[in-house]
Amino acid sequence: YFIDQANWEEDRVVIKGDDVHHIVKVMRMKKEDSLICVHPERGPALCEIVAAEQEVLCSIIDWLDENKELPVEVTIVQSLGKGDKLEQVVQKGTELGADFFIPFDAERSVAKWDAKKANKKLTRLKKIAKEASEQSERAKVPSVLDVMTLSEIIEQNDSYDVKLIAHENEARSVRSHSLSSRLHVIKDNQRVIIIFGPEGGFTPGEADKLFASGFLPVRLGPRILRMETAPLYFLSSLSYQLEE
Ligand code: SAM
Repeated sequence: YFIDQANWEEDRVVIKGDDVHHIVKVMRMKKEDSLICVHPERGPALCEIVAAEQEVLCSIIDWLDENKELPVEVTIVQSLGKGDKLEQVVQKGTELGADFFIPFDAERSVAKWDAKKANKKLTRLKKIAKEASEQSERAKVPSVLDVMTLSEIIEQNDSYDVKLIAHENEARSVRSHSLSSRLHVIKDNQRVIIIFGPEGGFTPGEADKLFASGFLPVRLGPRILRMETAPLYFLSSLSYQLEE
């Protein structure tokens, strides 16, 4: 559980709000059960419940320093898709270690978000990211940023060391841009951004603009993956390649 700084004391922590309902009613935890609370600066601590009523009072047993984060910082740019596809990407992508999610309004995105829908969707995606972080015992909650257009993504592209475009044409063409060859050059602490197309893929114009601003095409195997599968393939491969 991610707990605000104000609720931490020397040797105890007080959990308030929605988390109390989750701990008491959903997880059915009680006195002497243990759970992990995450301090915004010190990271995760193993805690034991002392009292569980309107608030849950825990004593801190031990600070945990095992690193659960990927050795690189990963930004997933995910085209808007039908139904709950973005929710799936944020939930599973958080479990797999992504740091940032940027919803992308692609030309072929069938799903369109007006301001009201974007607001509702982003609130939900942030909640999903928090819950998925808690369930996978991560020390941070990935950020879900506002919806961006292609030019907004290109404008901020200087902040990344490695820029990739998962391009469906790579799945059909010669095997020159394999993921393993791209992952080989990634070093610890680098910032990686990768962009995924919608159900209908990228338009040639979008792909050309991305190539022109330094995004390198990458192939995620020979099969065409669904838009919600592709980022999970990428994150799993990154973990396999870079983590113990
Ligand atoms: N029609 C399916 C759907 O409705 O989800 C497939 C969509 S595929 C065109 C969506 C995106 O996934 C592509 O734009 C690309 O970013 C990524 N993708 C899927 N398979 C890929 C592959 N083998 N290599 C690289 N990227 C891939």
